[in-house]
Amino acid sequence: MSAPLESRVDRTRCVGTGACAATAPADLTLGPDGRAELLAPTPVHLGQLTDAAELCPVEAITIHRTDTGEQVVPAW
Ligand code: SF4
Repeated sequence: MSAPLESRVDRTRCVGTGACAATAPADLTLGPDGRAELLAPTPVHLGQLTDAAELCPVEAITIHRTDTGEQVVPAW
């Protein structure tokens, strides 16, 4: 996975479980409204962010190629 990547969180889907912030604390935190917020526009710890994206119960976290916009995580 060598293409530049972009992290995204769909805050309209987030239900505020906090699982992602616990799994990927370098990339995600919970905002004042209790929903997930990105700490950086690109993955800081790709492995942890991938785990968080796959664990999110509402699939609010995705990672995309910046050149094509293709979603690469979750891969299903
Ligand atoms: S795991 Fe998903 S639903 Fe839970 S806080 Fe993170 S983005 Fe929101």
